[in-house]
Amino acid sequence: MSEDQPVAPPAAPPAEPKEITLELLHCPCGEPPGNLRIEMAGAGAKVAQVRGSCCGSWAVEFINNTDDQERSLIKAAAAWNAAPRWAG
Ligand SMILES: [Zn+2]
Repeated sequence: MSEDQPVAPPAAPPAEPKEITLELLHCPCGEPPGNLRIEMAGAGAKVAQVRGSCCGSWAVEFINNTDDQERSLIKAAAAWNAAPRWAG
């Protein structure tokens, strides 16, 4: 006899902003970004933008292409650090 026990996926925890522990370069505004904010263009979009929480005005586009929030943050941080900037 078999009990049909539906395997319920574990309830996903509410999305909370994760702190990035990666080293982040300064924003062109002169401040170190305390946090990165990722803005998706929409569901399924491959390209996202990342802004620093310092000023929120400088944005870097990067190929996100993942649903994994942590991977997104790592990619965002890499794009943030790799983007050319000029200190005033
Ligand atoms: Zn800034």
